[in-house]
Amino acid sequence: STTSRSTSASTARSDALIEHARTVTPGGVNSPVRAFRAVGGTPRFIASAQGPWLTDVDGNRYVDLICSWGPMILGHRHPDVLAAVTAAADKGFSFGTPSENEVALATEIVGRIEPVEQVRLVSSGTEATMSALRLARGATGRSKVVKFAGCYHGHVDALLASAGSGLATFALPDSAGVPASSAGETIVLPYNDVAAVEAAFAEHGDEIACVITEASPGNMGVVPPAPGFTQALRRITREHGALLISDEVMTGFRCSAAGWFGLEGVVPDLFTFGKVMGGGFPAAAFGGRADLMAQLSPDGPVYQAGTLSGNPVATAAGLATLQACTPEVYSHLDQVAHTIADAAHDALSAAGVAHTIQWAGSMFSVFFREGEVRSYDDAQAQDTAAFGRFFNSMLDQGVHLPPSAFEAWFVSASHDDEAVEAVLAALPAAARAAS
Ligand code: PLP
Repeated sequence: STTSRSTSASTARSDALIEHARTVTPGGVNSPVRAFRAVGGTPRFIASAQGPWLTDVDGNRYVDLICSWGPMILGHRHPDVLAAVTAAADKGFSFGTPSENEVALATEIVGRIEPVEQVRLVSSGTEATMSALRLARGATGRSKVVKFAGCYHGHVDALLASAGSGLATFALPDSAGVPASSAGETIVLPYNDVAAVEAAFAEHGDEIACVITEASPGNMGVVPPAPGFTQALRRITREHGALLISDEVMTGFRCSAAGWFGLEGVVPDLFTFGKVMGGGFPAAAFGGRADLMAQLSPDGPVYQAGTLSGNPVATAAGLATLQACTPEVYSHLDQVAHTIADAAHDALSAAGVAHTIQWAGSMFSVFFREGEVRSYDDAQAQDTAAFGRFFNSMLDQGVHLPPSAFEAWFVSASHDDEAVEAVLAALPAAARAAS
């Protein structure tokens, strides 16, 4: 029946694949957190996906609460997106010339987020933040960058200090291979600490090109800005002639139709986007004020380029995804997220497991600790071993959470009653396993 989940949970083929993968790829994976190091066990090789369901190579089925770490806001193989991608691919894969889809996607983004007057398309969130940083440095003629501990902006050299996400999962403070000359230009401050920002600007104000922040951080778990924090960043950067970059790679088009900006309304100088706007394909963007964007090549002196930038298939997927993100989609996400979070709270409470659930729009995460989490230090003070037991019990019961205690749980428009019921049914035993 469609409601049965695999109970045999053989992982023979995933076991064989990861063993072979390790001989040809470091750790057997192409992004570290996929290796399951923090939670133990065998990473599941997914063979196919439909709606809210993943099916692995051994035939086990899981409710997907990763959603590709954000992009799959409509669920897998949404018919409109599939049709758009198929039609685009049928006309050619990549031209290296301007094409119509990229203009349509840029127009859609500019139309949704008023302070974004222009965007340039790239292929990953990392490229978006890297390029925004270069533009901020080029436009200001300054070199220092302020970032916040626990915020992840992709694997850009200058932004890998105290970067949350995979680095939190592996308890790495930084990355080897980042030269001191690059890291030395980065000032890392505690999140939600206005006094620390004031102090950094008092000392280095005329050397700071920009402050980059996750619009509402999701890479140390969900830690929204305290009331007034983003406004303070806007005020302080303006006072010192520095730019404010709001990284909406995770929150963009997810927290609301206009991302976190649509909820809080503070206007940064530059935005970065990714994930949802690519609909599961490699498309990302950075954008903002037209006078700043004019600093980019070919009109301005800041160079930036890409062989696959604005790829016709990726931009077709992104455009179809954004067009299908109706108000009903956002209210559904909200409802599904609250249903799951409420049930997680009840199950963890009943099992006596310390936990805190935090929100950014319909994006939420469960911290395995008590009390409000306002910073990376707070986020790290959680019981990651308890999370590991919880994660594995959920997985055994057919629910695939992100394999890290420092990530949001992502839901989609396709998470229907059957999928939600499967999650609710799994929570009590997982909570007992965690206790
Ligand atoms: N910025 C934020 C806020 C992110 O969450 C991520 C990815 O998780 C990135 C940037 C990097 O994006 P990508 O993995 O597409 O390079």
